[in-house]
Amino acid sequence: MCGIVGYVGGREAAPVLLDGLRRLEYRGYDSAGLAVLEEDGSMAVRKRAGKLEELARAIEGAWPKGNIGIGHTRWATHGRPTDANAHPVADCTGQVLVVHNGIIENYRPLKESLQGRGHRFQTETDTEVIAHLVEEGLGRGLPLAQATRQAVSCLQGANAVLVMARHCPQGLVAARLGNAGGVVVGLGEGECLVASDLPALLPYTRRVLFLSGGEMAEITREGACLSTLAGEPVSRQAVEVPYDPLSVAKGPYKHFMLKEIMEQPECVLDTLRGRVDFEGMRVELEDVHLSPEVLSRLRRVVLVGMGTSYHAALVGRHYMEAIARLPAEAENASEFRYRDPLVGPETLVVAVTQSGETVDTLAAMEEARRKGCALAAVCNVIGSQASRMADAVVYTRCGLEVGVCSTKTFTASLVVLYLLACYLAQARGVQPPEALSSLLSPLARLPYLLGEVTERAGEYERLAHTFYRYSNFLYLGRGVQYPIALEGALKLKEVSYIHAEGYPAGEMKHGPIALIDQDMPVVAIAVRDPLYDKMRNNLEQVKAREGRLIVLASEGDEEMARLADYPLHVPDASPLLLPVLTAVPLQFFAYYIAVRRGCDVDQPRNLAKTVTVE
Ligand code: GLU
Repeated sequence: MCGIVGYVGGREAAPVLLDGLRRLEYRGYDSAGLAVLEEDGSMAVRKRAGKLEELARAIEGAWPKGNIGIGHTRWATHGRPTDANAHPVADCTGQVLVVHNGIIENYRPLKESLQGRGHRFQTETDTEVIAHLVEEGLGRGLPLAQATRQAVSCLQGANAVLVMARHCPQGLVAARLGNAGGVVVGLGEGECLVASDLPALLPYTRRVLFLSGGEMAEITREGACLSTLAGEPVSRQAVEVPYDPLSVAKGPYKHFMLKEIMEQPECVLDTLRGRVDFEGMRVELEDVHLSPEVLSRLRRVVLVGMGTSYHAALVGRHYMEAIARLPAEAENASEFRYRDPLVGPETLVVAVTQSGETVDTLAAMEEARRKGCALAAVCNVIGSQASRMADAVVYTRCGLEVGVCSTKTFTASLVVLYLLACYLAQARGVQPPEALSSLLSPLARLPYLLGEVTERAGEYERLAHTFYRYSNFLYLGRGVQYPIALEGALKLKEVSYIHAEGYPAGEMKHGPIALIDQDMPVVAIAVRDPLYDKMRNNLEQVKAREGRLIVLASEGDEEMARLADYPLHVPDASPLLLPVLTAVPLQFFAYYIAVRRGCDVDQPRNLAKTVTVE
């Protein structure tokens, strides 16, 4: 999770920027930098690889002087975490400086065409294309805002960008593309700040403006002028953030669950950061200590988890088989631990646990350890018990999940399991480089696609308002979407106390079909994947029995739109990654139904976040 900070006003900018970066420290980083436009018109840039303290030490006693500047903590996606690759990143002339959060999916063709036009690159980052594109706009006489607008319009992917230019000493320009990477503007007295998140702003002001995807802001000491990337003005009232830690943490959202659903594009981006080398098309997992001997003797994978994590494990099973080509099964951890499972040194047991403290999952890990299995853990809490027990840990980087009902840690766990499967495939040499590359490259677009899904919150809310009075729901999916049907049903049960069942769609005619009538809505996941035709047949069967069909279909699928009483759409993606997208509308649906029913969404009755009892 990288952090962006910008300042313009009457104070010395550098200490404000460093302080802001410190407050975003929880987001993690591998290098940091800041730049101040000094009074004589020079740009003082300080960048250091490593922790923020390295940068602080480099600046201490030699603070750059000036009232406008930008800062960044980086989590590398393109180019190693070196001093040179740290942000801010400059154009050829050093007139333009950029800090950036995200992945520019099309940076390679952009870079090649810029190089073809004579631009020389000084870093290995994708970010640098922005600086050169802005430079070109300024060269054509455009003002900074217009040059930035044109530059960011060329970018694909979910990105947040902050730009400063030498001949624009009065202001900064921030832009947000897609929904990953927040941008919040803080409006002070005669000063203005901008940052990725609230904690960096609150010591200075509580009046803030949140930028949505597809918007930009021109920031001066007098305030911020918002517009869309298409150039339409945006008028938005500043909101006053109360200074109690809970409201600060919730930001503009009514509940943590909603906030956490909305954070998913960013969490997935953070979970990917530094782990996929999109240049060399390789996976690099930092805490996976499985020796070549252990890796080569693996014959089987058993994934264990409870609740939502168990559903992630069920998806993970598909990944292990399809990608790592290892026979795999997923099991409820509380069952696994008591059945004397036949596992041994040829088995990799992958424990999925958000908290890393789930008692049944820890016990399953102990059982696996006793039997000599290799142990991997997928969890969100650094240093948790599961992470200490495992030989290999791959963290989801979601930050704290407050809502009892897991949302962001689910989708991030899917991404981690996908990465782990790619890692095993790579380490065991079971996928040729071209195949590995086509497995990895769609990951770059995933945060952006997730942003497209979260942008449709209003659609899911309207649907929830139609259905909130029903008492029973049936969720159907097939293949890799079957666990998502289970997860959708679980979300509804957890937060709205409505009875819901998840079934593999093929199983329906063996019993559940008897339940179908006008009072039992069916939520079906029927996206374009290899089982699409089979799924359509199952839905015809529901339709023939006058069931009410809510169908989650692929964008532009007219046929499903006709079949469904209530169609919902998600963007197309590679079939194995689609569960990351289809999970999200079902989370929204459960959330809005629960709100409408007046349930305590963040603390549903009888549930606890970390289950430390059997
Ligand atoms: N993709 C950019 C880089 O690798 C930005 C990474 C970040 O968001 O920190 O430098």
